[in-house]
Amino acid sequence: MFKNLIFDWSGTLVDDMGPVIEATNAVLEKYGIAPYDREGFRRSFRLPYREFYAEVLPGIDLEELEAHFRPAFDGATSLVTVLPHAREKLEWAKSRGLRMFVLTSMDAIAFARQLAEFGMQDFFEETYAGVLDKRELIDQIIETHGLAKDETAFVGDMTHDIETARHGGISSIAVLTGYHHAEVLAEVRPDITVPDLGVLVKMFDKRKADRPVATVGALIHDGAGKILMIRTHKWSDLWGIPGGKIERGESSEDALRREIMEETALDISDIHFVMVQDCINSPEFIRPEHFLLLNYIARSKSHEVTLNDEAEEFQWVTMEEAFSLDLNTATKTLLERIVADKLLP
Ligand SMILES: [Mg+2]
Repeated sequence: MFKNLIFDWSGTLVDDMGPVIEATNAVLEKYGIAPYDREGFRRSFRLPYREFYAEVLPGIDLEELEAHFRPAFDGATSLVTVLPHAREKLEWAKSRGLRMFVLTSMDAIAFARQLAEFGMQDFFEETYAGVLDKRELIDQIIETHGLAKDETAFVGDMTHDIETARHGGISSIAVLTGYHHAEVLAEVRPDITVPDLGVLVKMFDKRKADRPVATVGALIHDGAGKILMIRTHKWSDLWGIPGGKIERGESSEDALRREIMEETALDISDIHFVMVQDCINSPEFIRPEHFLLLNYIARSKSHEVTLNDEAEEFQWVTMEEAFSLDLNTATKTLLERIVADKLLP
């Protein structure tokens, strides 16, 4: 199941084909070229649009063409509308805590105006407009926002959108509500093709994946009264313990050793299970999740911690000092149990 969706704008969330065809025909008319009808335009138009114009108006400067296009687009009489199911899809995704972005070739000013007019600003963490070749920006977007590639999809209506997804190593979802016909899109083999965004909502809802996620975490001690606490943005910058998800086919103890090694570079021993905690949609976590937290206590002979990018800060403290930190709730519960059962050597 995807946790991050990057949307194209024209043809994916809004229908602006009317004014785009009007404006394109106005540009062509300046150079004495016959206008397109809707179907002809759908078959010929492609992104990056410099390639389209290089074919229909070879040798003419892109800036000159844009100078003709913009006023014609602004003055077009056809309306731009939100596509059916688009708002429903965005609301659905937001309610499930998905992170959403826009990456569009549309002129930044026209885009900002439409975004405000349709009241869609709040759906998106960030928007990128006026991007002529989306492939040139996709890696940067993935990196800037720390998007896991296997949890991220690009949703678009044109072959360039599918190629952009492939370029970024993320999944591609083609919608048939826009500029390219199904057979044109099929040539670039999208991972998923849906007639519209409403079908995408139904498809996502059917996928079970929404079962609890089993995780492991450990309070790590040094055998001499100090324990390791780490602070992470994933838990509202509160202090807690290192850990993470169990992979399919991995035992919980192997998962624990691996996660601790990845997040702290510590090799742990003397591993003992302490308790299991239900953690259902904790407001402290970065997104709504249903976790099953398997809590352990373990020892590290070394104090040499190297954090990965999942945590901001660490410290070795006494149990008493730990209770004076801003702890996440699950960690506080674990520490109380460890104290009550005298599990810290
Ligand atoms: Mg589009």
